[in-house]
Amino acid sequence: MVSLQPGGEELRCGRVVALPALAGRSVPGLPADPDGFIPTDNFGRVPRVGEVYAAGDGTTFPVKQGGIACQQADVVAAAIAQRAGVPGEPQPFRPVLRGMLLTGTDPRYMRTELSGRLGGEAEAGTHSLWWPPSKIAGDHLAPYLSRIDAEALAAGGAKPLELALDRLPPGVRRRRSSSVTSTAGASSSWTRRRALPRSGRGGRKSHR
Ligand SMILES: Cc1cc2nc3c(=O)[nH]c(=O)nc-3n(C[C@H](O)[C@H](O)[C@H](O)COP(=O)(O)OP(=O)(O)OC[C@H]3O[C@@H](n4cnc5c(N)ncnc54)[C@H](O)[C@@H]3O)c2cc1C
Repeated sequence: MVSLQPGGEELRCGRVVALPALAGRSVPGLPADPDGFIPTDNFGRVPRVGEVYAAGDGTTFPVKQGGIACQQADVVAAAIAQRAGVPGEPQPFRPVLRGMLLTGTDPRYMRTELSGRLGGEAEAGTHSLWWPPSKIAGDHLAPYLSRIDAEALAAGGAKPLELALDRLPPGVRRRRSSSVTSTAGASSSWTRRRALPRSGRGGRKSHR
């Protein structure tokens, strides 16, 4: 039984999923919305305070995610570089949400453009939709984190991101590698090895 407040209405529920309400830490001297998040324009610039830029979870952009924060940071870096005299047109923020869902069997890769009320085209699959195929997708951060992961695994003492489940759901069989596969038709040949950067690929920019 869940009691809704205010009002006290009671609901009988089979399952309850609770999500925290987000609150920003407003920064003295900078504008903030009622929840404490910093507003920005499409180039990451904070309005009414001169040359101040913001990126990431602390901004008013409603989707809080590492990949989104990376894209905002790229936009801000390009805008600042242009202000500093670097030639080129800064590109406005065009958010693309990329998510890797660890399932206990084959991971799922999901991608969608976030274009406000119009919605965007979404893709999902068992093959990677970006490189490196990491949980945090970012042109610069993802290859960097991937390299650190690879070094930690090679040095020993670190565990891979994906671990085989002790008990598998019905209809799912275990793979030879550290991963497991579904008998329900998933055809991914993804293994932990492919999640690590291949030599020379670390800095490759291949997000779409
Ligand atoms: C459990 C969990 C799992 C997540 N998994 C994923 C995932 O798989 N993929 C993904 O893309 N995203 C994931 N996210 C979201 C991702 O972590 C955030 O979107 C991302 O870290 C935002 O980056 P940021 O730089 O804006 O903020 P943060 O990473 O929060 O960095 C802000 C930094 O500012 C510091 N700071 C705060 N106040 C002050 C101050 N007054 N002075 C100085 N420093 C200050 C903080 O200590 C912190 O180091 C996850 C988040 C959580 C909580």
